Amino acid sequence: MTTQDTAHITRFAPSPNGRLHLGHAYSALMAHKLAGSGRFILRIEDIDLGRRRQHFIDAIYEDLAWLGLSWPTPVMIQSSRFDIYKTALNRLREMEVVYPCWASRADIRDYINTQQGGREAWPVDPDGAAIYPGLYKDISPSKRDAMMWEGGNYAWRLDSEKAAAIARQKNGVLSYFEASQQENVDINPGLYGDVILARKDIPTSYHLSVVVDDAAQDISLVTRGMDLQGATHIHRILQILLEYPEPEYYHHELVREADGRRLSKRAGDIGIDYYRDQGYGPEQLIGECLPPLTG
Ligand code: GLU
Repeated sequence: MTTQDTAHITRFAPSPNGRLHLGHAYSALMAHKLAGSGRFILRIEDIDLGRRRQHFIDAIYEDLAWLGLSWPTPVMIQSSRFDIYKTALNRLREMEVVYPCWASRADIRDYINTQQGGREAWPVDPDGAAIYPGLYKDISPSKRDAMMWEGGNYAWRLDSEKAAAIARQKNGVLSYFEASQQENVDINPGLYGDVILARKDIPTSYHLSVVVDDAAQDISLVTRGMDLQGATHIHRILQILLEYPEPEYYHHELVREADGRRLSKRAGDIGIDYYRDQGYGPEQLIGECLPPLTG
């Protein structure tokens, strides 16, 4: 792997809904290392306004600085960019690769349960969630218009097959470059099915804003954990449709607990601050608690 020999623009893009844990530390340090003589950027992904907390944003700055990292300021904050995401969403609407879907989680669950084999037999995405069954995908334009007027809650879903077909037509090939393996990976448009790209009141989702902002910040090497590798199949299609440049991807291994369990903020795993409070220095934390920064 020779990526670090070249100059890359990389980023670390945490969501401020908890303290950073060891997995975040590893991801940020890896992105910093892979930037080489290029640039390491920090971006705050706080589109989930219900879960974002300013004190977590402050803690991100504090924890990363303690690890010895620095980054250009001002830091891009996604919650100040909803208008920009809306413009991108409108472009996808004009291409007719998104459609409104009124199905609630319960509607989707109930539908799947009535199908042969039920939930057990239903296809799942890489995170184990059931693939969206296409409710509201093929309703007539007049019914769709009428439902839009009624004003119920809906989500904008990507028509993944159509989007992939148009992307393939535009670009010829549908793949992304996995820098950690030095290989091209073919895009599988059905991996996550028709994902949600925006909601009635929030003109974006993770998938849309991350693609918009990686392009806006000229990211040349997207560095993140292997748990997001599947999402890259969606992101690459969106990049082609929106005519953004193609970054390379480096999906790094995940930091695990001694018992092999994945770390996660939700599971209440201990934060970087815990180690600091225990008297660890950054070198000791990096040397003793993280896998080697290979790459
Ligand atoms: N904001 C995402 C997270 O905290 C990471 C997004 C990415 O690296 O693409 O999980």
